[in-house]
Amino acid sequence: MRCIDAHEHAHAAWKHAGKELTMTEEAPAAVCDTLIRNGYLITMDTQRAVYACGAVAINGNAIVAVGRDADIAARFRPRRVIDAKGGVIHPGFIDCHCHVAIHLSRGIIPDHPTPQAAPFSFADWTNHLEDEDEHIQAQIVGLEMLRHGYTFFLEPGTVYEPDAAAAAAESVGVRAGLADPYMWDVSGGPQSRPSTTRRIPNDAKRAFKVLGGQLARNKDPDALVRGHVAIYGACYSSESLMRAAKDCADAHGVTFTMHHNFDQDDAKIVDERYGGVHNMVYFAKRGLLGPNCLYVHMNIIRDDEIPVILDSGMSLVWQPGNSMYYKINANFKPRIPELIERGCNVAFGVDAAKIWTFGDLELLGYLDASQHGHYISAARIMEMRTVHAAHAVGLSHMIGSIESGKRADIVIRSVDVPEILPGANPIQELLLSGHRATASTVLVDGRLVFLDGRSTQVDQNTVIAAGRAMARRVLDRAGYIPRLPWTVVN
Ligand SMILES: [Zn+2]
Repeated sequence: MRCIDAHEHAHAAWKHAGKELTMTEEAPAAVCDTLIRNGYLITMDTQRAVYACGAVAINGNAIVAVGRDADIAARFRPRRVIDAKGGVIHPGFIDCHCHVAIHLSRGIIPDHPTPQAAPFSFADWTNHLEDEDEHIQAQIVGLEMLRHGYTFFLEPGTVYEPDAAAAAAESVGVRAGLADPYMWDVSGGPQSRPSTTRRIPNDAKRAFKVLGGQLARNKDPDALVRGHVAIYGACYSSESLMRAAKDCADAHGVTFTMHHNFDQDDAKIVDERYGGVHNMVYFAKRGLLGPNCLYVHMNIIRDDEIPVILDSGMSLVWQPGNSMYYKINANFKPRIPELIERGCNVAFGVDAAKIWTFGDLELLGYLDASQHGHYISAARIMEMRTVHAAHAVGLSHMIGSIESGKRADIVIRSVDVPEILPGANPIQELLLSGHRATASTVLVDGRLVFLDGRSTQVDQNTVIAAGRAMARRVLDRAGYIPRLPWTVVN
């Protein structure tokens, strides 16, 4: 193998990718567990270093060296070598908002979001879930993430049994962030129908009692599944619950997340509750915004809320798919592209996986921004999926980049799929056309959990079959009658 010299133009990598791997003739100096070699290495470190032919040395769950393939190979005697064959190597992507308990309701929630077309709601689905159903859905989420190069999901407190989701994430080998389920104490929000709240009512006493319970997971610094603090949203929570949650997150150094301003109804309810002041302005005055805050959706942002958001240092999760799906941006211009340009930390989240999967929202965001006169580059999207997302979930010290000392959450992309050709501009190709299930090999916390497009931790076919059977069970319990566009002959 002739690796590309660092001084050569990076674009030359594609000419030399995939050559046969040979060891260096110099004597290796140190033992390491794993050496990933011969890949187009996008580190996302503070310098944004990219190695046309790079290598990563791993010991245990940590990255111990990163650099040019020839240099790293000369320094280490690995127990295991993974040959990237010239494929892109990048940090595991991070999804900042994923409702795992409704993940398999795709296809059941209609593709036309009107009350007439939607006889079946998310509440109808969640009301018929058992713990095992949440477990299987979280396993499917994990497998789907790995195929798309994701290694972490942040769940916003909407699984009824967090232990079921935690066990599922651990079984597949992905990281997860979990929060106390359904933290709400105010009725009357747009999603507060009785059917929604049947299992966990809007009960202040319960909410304050369970607040912070999931943070016990963080006692183990090596835990794959960690805890954070979430409330369902400002529409559904009193100011006192919101304050208690924010204080709890501050005291424990974790992220505080909630849904906010999904649409005009949300914004109006909260504005009116707080005297007509635009709600982000009110929250800022009341000390309810800060660098550990991660608010989701934010489809309605008014002029006076822009400086407040920027000054707070908070992060946002952008889900442009929803604003298009529900036609919210037909009346309200998305302000998040402007916030990104002005330095706000923004990441993406799949939310309810209605008509999309991991990585799709980034492409939608790119197009939504263009539609409204903004430009978000592929390189910026790469930051939003990695280092910016790691900051948003409060784990910058551990994940989000390939650097010595960080955990080894590393994805190797396949080189033999057409979507990421020609290899002349790997970041653009990967982010915009090759972003789907093009991951070949994935390590999480130093462990090889995905190899040649298959899980090494669970029998992938068995889990997929269990997911299909589980969805049928839930729909039978719910009495769901499918409305399909054409007659199906049984
Ligand atoms: Zn959500």
